[in-house]
Amino acid sequence: MPPPWTGDFCADAVSINVVDAELTGIVQGGIDLLAEYFGCQKFRIDGSGLPVTFHELTTTFNGKLLAYAFSQPDDYQIWINRDCWGVVERWDGVVAHELGHYLGWRHGDDHPYMWLPPPPGSYARDGDAAIVCY
Ligand SMILES: [Zn+2]
Repeated sequence: MPPPWTGDFCADAVSINVVDAELTGIVQGGIDLLAEYFGCQKFRIDGSGLPVTFHELTTTFNGKLLAYAFSQPDDYQIWINRDCWGVVERWDGVVAHELGHYLGWRHGDDHPYMWLPPPPGSYARDGDAAIVCY
């Protein structure tokens, strides 16, 4: 049983900057999913910190990857593929997954949403555990 969620922010809540306002709803949805695990909101949308933005992913990955946690030593961003935006029906679990990567979680570890079933409009690509849209 996860701890009951009180709706409060965690003491160490991470700031998120939703660059494309259209994404605000799904980002909050992903935060809410993870709040069930933490018992508080681990992320706070406040216009600073971790950017969440639409980003072109098709050419980079030879497939329409839904989303990606881009990580460099001084730059961490979460990218949502605009090509998949109108195709995939549910994004909150996808966002929760990418936020999990930000927290250092890995595919198939015991954390929630790190072994994500493909949401409607997408499928798992063999070999690299990637989820792509149609
Ligand atoms: Zn992943």
